Amino acid sequence: MTSFPTIQADIDALVALRHDLHRHPELGFEEERTAGLVADYLERLGCTVHRGLAGTGVVGMLENGEGPIVGLRADMDALPMTEASGREWSSTNEGKFHGCGHDGHTVCLLATAEHLSRTQAFRGTVVFIFQPAEEGLGGGQKMVVDGLFEQFRCEQVFGFHNMPLLPLGAAAVQSGPAMASFDEFRIEFGGEGGHAAMPHLSRDPVFAAAETAVTLQALAAREIDPHIAAVLSVTQIHAGTTHNVIPHESWLGGTVRTLDPGARDKLQSALERTAEGTAVARGVGAKVDYQRKFPVLVNEPAATRVLRSAVTTAMGSNALDDAFKPLLAAEDFAFMLEARPGAYVLLGQRDEEHQAMVHNPAYDFNDRVIPIAASVLAAAVAQ
Ligand SMILES: [Zn+2]
Ligand SMILES: [Zn+2]
Repeated sequence: MTSFPTIQADIDALVALRHDLHRHPELGFEEERTAGLVADYLERLGCTVHRGLAGTGVVGMLENGEGPIVGLRADMDALPMTEASGREWSSTNEGKFHGCGHDGHTVCLLATAEHLSRTQAFRGTVVFIFQPAEEGLGGGQKMVVDGLFEQFRCEQVFGFHNMPLLPLGAAAVQSGPAMASFDEFRIEFGGEGGHAAMPHLSRDPVFAAAETAVTLQALAAREIDPHIAAVLSVTQIHAGTTHNVIPHESWLGGTVRTLDPGARDKLQSALERTAEGTAVARGVGAKVDYQRKFPVLVNEPAATRVLRSAVTTAMGSNALDDAFKPLLAAEDFAFMLEARPGAYVLLGQRDEEHQAMVHNPAYDFNDRVIPIAASVLAAAVAQ
């Protein structure tokens, strides 16, 4: 099953760099040290380097005559959480941790650049995109808004992520929706407080919040085609100060995820209608703040074919796992795929020492993914 490609790059140095990045994780839009190391590495490879796109983003470029312009993207940020991996190269930055493997992604893309600069096994231009702030902050969106594709006219763009749910040597990429949209909501209810023993003299915002939290659970079940993946979770309810006072206000919050842009629109309007309708029924006021964060990540068919073929070339004919279902996690590479055709591949990383899921305190990136990712990306730009 598993084939481990070799690449033209100094793997020992790249693994050492990965461990160095892991020791010094930086949160979104604060990746100054990481970006500096990336830019220096790219310059040593002979890339044209643009620093400071979207704050701490870095873009490197390799040219080899006439041909297509293809973008390859990695993310660089860490998570605000404490590491418990027990690795020798554990985080030395209190409360910050590369718990999603973006240290590894950064090095995978540098490995790709090194391989391509040594072999020149491509035509045209390869654009290496190192984005800041993937973890909920939309650094990918900021790069697009700040002119990434006006400055670097990529005709196709490819992204990747390590995946502990897949074994090392397996990969998943299919045409169509691959990661979910991600929205956040907050609903505030304003009533009239009073004595808990005399609820008829108040307008109770706690009751309205509780009723809304329950009713919202009907939306995915009653508003959305059962074949479409959609989930709405209420994750916070806040109100009150003591047992015998009905408070003036309450609020609840949560998140909506779906693989279908139409379902996303429908859930937003149904949520607003439900909150406002419940408030009217209970005689309180409601204010809905619904924030659309990341869009659905959609793999474009032609680019998907290129990436699937690259996986097969680099990893072997059995590497693709077409039974792997899209996740309802979100990924801000979706913004780049809204702007340019492209595709996103999940690369398996699970083995004996790498069992933990991303965002788990025990997680660590599997360094054996580095040559695999570099071979896949190099094969994708060679086509
Ligand atoms: Zn993550
Ligand atoms: Zn991630």
